Amino acid sequence: MTGKRGIIYCRVSSLEQVDGTSLESQERICREYAEREGIEVADVFVDRGESAKTADRPQFLKAISFCGQKKNQIDFFIVYKLDRFSRSQTDHFAVQNSLNKYGVTIRSATEPVDESPIGKFLMGTLSASAEFDNSIRSERSSTGMRERLKQGIWVWPAPTGYQRLEKGGVMVPDNDAQYVRLAFNEYVKGTHTYKTLATLLFEKGLRSKSGKKIEFQTIQKMIHNPLYAGIVKKDEWGIEVKGQHEPIVTESLFYKCQGAGRSHKGTKKQEKNPNFPLRRLVSCEWCDDPLTGSFSTGRGGKKHGYYHHHKQGCPHAKSIKKKDLEESFVSFLEEINPTFEFANAFKEACMEIYREDNTNAEKQNETVRQQVASLYEKKKAIFNNFEEGIYTKTDFLERKREVERQLYAAQSNLIEVRGGELDFEAALDYCISFIIDTPDTWKRLVKQPEKRLRFQNFIFEGSIPYTQNNGFGTAVLSPIYSLSEEYKRDKSSLVTPRRIELRFPE
Ligand SMILES: [Zn+2]
Repeated sequence: MTGKRGIIYCRVSSLEQVDGTSLESQERICREYAEREGIEVADVFVDRGESAKTADRPQFLKAISFCGQKKNQIDFFIVYKLDRFSRSQTDHFAVQNSLNKYGVTIRSATEPVDESPIGKFLMGTLSASAEFDNSIRSERSSTGMRERLKQGIWVWPAPTGYQRLEKGGVMVPDNDAQYVRLAFNEYVKGTHTYKTLATLLFEKGLRSKSGKKIEFQTIQKMIHNPLYAGIVKKDEWGIEVKGQHEPIVTESLFYKCQGAGRSHKGTKKQEKNPNFPLRRLVSCEWCDDPLTGSFSTGRGGKKHGYYHHHKQGCPHAKSIKKKDLEESFVSFLEEINPTFEFANAFKEACMEIYREDNTNAEKQNETVRQQVASLYEKKKAIFNNFEEGIYTKTDFLERKREVERQLYAAQSNLIEVRGGELDFEAALDYCISFIIDTPDTWKRLVKQPEKRLRFQNFIFEGSIPYTQNNGFGTAVLSPIYSLSEEYKRDKSSLVTPRRIELRFPE
């Protein structure tokens, strides 16, 4: 076989088995899709269960590793709908990334996804919109919480040392407050680790709710929790106000503790060092080695960050000031920032494809509905014939079973038309809002290092070459950014979207 090969992955919850998107119809629709696309199905993987968590999907993991084995020669990972694939975008991108490394592309049997720039972007958008839906919902429920936080009222469970006398009320110190005070007073001496402190507090009488020793992780959280100093703080919402509750320690003691303590093993994560977001993304143009970052202490004891690499024999990029490289990176982002005009044209192109796809689905559904209607007529006729004594009971049961089987088969051909609860346009706007001010988005994400890395991965495919004299070289941009660059050169590249192979599989 030299043709394209793929695997099918299906997931069903017990709820769905009742309402029609059963395993059989998922698999059949995926198989039909594969046949239309000329993809040979190498294997089918099935998970049954409520949860969409990766850990609860053993067959999903098997499917991924099957794709990773060269001998299987897999080109496509076919799912019934992208939401089978993952519920969270983080998960989605991580899995997509590893599949891409194997040269495997994800295909949805019921949604428009292909390898064109817009196809790729739509896929990101669809998976984002599942998450988007959730974030909208939590946004709504949190408006009230935000208001209360702003008034200095902590809205989440009270930490050790505090209690609430009434539901939703202001916290007050309880009997454990003395241990919290002791913890801060000991920690500030600089001789404790969280573990030795946990032991000390246990000896002095602090117990968890189940009567055990408090874990050191809890102690760590305690020492860094500003609530104890009377501060109500929620970084994600940009809230930091004086709380209405009584502090257990002074602000001064709290802040002294933030730098105190003995060094803790494993608290610094090198892999996702938020201080050097560009490490590994930027590489030396001369030797191709990725840059890393570190601090060195200057004469006055002040710390300075540098990006560098240690390739023997390469005299370049030995030390670039963190500030310089990052400023130059922001200018680079300004150069590749998509224009508003592009964003609008891009959105129009996506919407056009989306509408067209929905129209096609509607057309197909119309045909299916006619089939279903005529099958109902047939079923009615079978009942009539039985009542009028034309059929024997055996005849009747046999015919009834057959027509019901046909009905079921026809109904499962109905394609789900997207839209409705899933507001595609809003999801699209949401995604575009990140890219229309790329440099600013990157700067804003300074306090969310993981999101920042994801955003960088969203912009660039591979590393960006850099030299101290010429700055950033030519980088491989992700589809939407390369499309935007093309648009800057030739406006017709999006005006007639068909020109750039935007045909989706029927
Ligand atoms: Zn080099």
